[in-house]
Amino acid sequence: MATAVTHYTSYKARPFTREQREKTTILFGGLTWKHERLVQGVFNNLNYNAKPLPNIARADLDAGKELIDTGACCPTIFTTGSLVNFLKNEVAVNGKQKTLDDYVFLTAGACGPCRFGQYHESYEMALDGMGLKEFRLFLLAQDQLDQAPEKGGGLEINMPLSLGIVWAILVGDILTDMEYLTRPYEVTPGQTDKVLQESADYLFEVFQKRPLRSNKYGMLAWHFLSGYFADALRVVRKKFDAIEVDRLQVKPKVKITGEFWLQTHEGDGNYNIKRWLESEGSEVMPPPVAVWLGYLLHTPLWRIPEKPNFDRKALMKMAMIRGFEKLYVGTYNRFRKALAYVPNELPDQEELKQLASPFFHHELRGGEGHMLIGKALHAHLHKHANMTCELSPYSCMPNTMSQGAMANVLGRHPDLLYAPIEIKGDAEVHALSRCQMILTEAKKRSQSEFVEAMAKTGLTLEKIRQIEEKNPKVKKATYRIPHYGYACTAANYALHLAGMRAN
Ligand code: SF4
Repeated sequence: MATAVTHYTSYKARPFTREQREKTTILFGGLTWKHERLVQGVFNNLNYNAKPLPNIARADLDAGKELIDTGACCPTIFTTGSLVNFLKNEVAVNGKQKTLDDYVFLTAGACGPCRFGQYHESYEMALDGMGLKEFRLFLLAQDQLDQAPEKGGGLEINMPLSLGIVWAILVGDILTDMEYLTRPYEVTPGQTDKVLQESADYLFEVFQKRPLRSNKYGMLAWHFLSGYFADALRVVRKKFDAIEVDRLQVKPKVKITGEFWLQTHEGDGNYNIKRWLESEGSEVMPPPVAVWLGYLLHTPLWRIPEKPNFDRKALMKMAMIRGFEKLYVGTYNRFRKALAYVPNELPDQEELKQLASPFFHHELRGGEGHMLIGKALHAHLHKHANMTCELSPYSCMPNTMSQGAMANVLGRHPDLLYAPIEIKGDAEVHALSRCQMILTEAKKRSQSEFVEAMAKTGLTLEKIRQIEEKNPKVKKATYRIPHYGYACTAANYALHLAGMRAN
């Protein structure tokens, strides 16, 4: 006898209507608290209530593990668990119906070979397991700035929202760079974090009050041409001006690479490794999200010429992409300029591809693709970092491939200090002690760089300190130290001060 088969039906969110907008809060997450604060400003600017999910905690890993499939990668488990814990708490306090009515969740998504393309499936599985299948979640496709309104019109993923989010990410990156360049050298402990909080709150308001244009092309042009955000960053610069730093402290510089979520995250999800590295006496180079957006913008230039119907239209499309790319990088540089060019430059996408090409093909997408290799080599060969710490998620297929290729890279560049750290979420001691082993070598490297730089100056440390005292502006967090070919900040700083004496 034939048995009835229940076919799989994909999740369909209940409508989120325009009328429900005032009473509904959009939940989101996945970035640092600074980026999320600015994104919240963008939502408010467009009359949405929005709030980021609480920062990831260790308990989210357990909650995620309970409800989604066991082979899921660690970022999927953490982020699903974070939504689960938030909703569980809401249901306990306000009841199921109110939770379903009061919130929707917006998550980024894409298609592709990694689980990023299926995050929403994991969320759905977890919601089902919690008995909250009617909870509404929507997808912000990372390659579509202007999507059709979501069912019901309550949420419009359109140009003003997408551009606002992208600009919030760029400004959040600049702010994060300032944070990590300043905190390791601050003279007054805690001052950087205080200024950072004030700056994030100020920029939140800037995004909340962003002028809007009725036409989407007008909106696009305004974002690229207006001085609104650069002016706001000049106000932030004044706040950072007040921080005194001592850059003669010799610290190894550690570049962070790895899977997108893990490298961006600041919290239990990656054992708080950036703060831990600082507490171990390092300077951290955080990964800007802008590099990922630059990658998304640039990669069609490699694909279009391969298409069979390559014609004039394709050439025009490529010219348009190049134009957009120039505007994009130009905007980032304008923001850097507002902060005296202290934040780091974005790496060139073509150079990342070329550096990685002997080891990893640029068409192998998924995860960070060839960028993981390109970025490690870029930091090493340009002497931007003494070591690279790669955060690799447990059960991540694309990252496993890049890691395999990295073995070949290390064979050809044995002087590259590389710490690949597998992050499972519950093996902290093992991961950090592994990182510490390489960090010990990086500390020795930064010391020898400093000794070499001092020898080049022909000055004593005391003399360098005297030059510093005569030029108090160099002690400001917003004073830019040029790169003299060393990764270690103290080495570049000593050479710079020695040059000031000569002038
Ligand atoms: S890159 Fe890896 S860790 Fe990240 S979402 Fe994809 S599979 Fe998961």
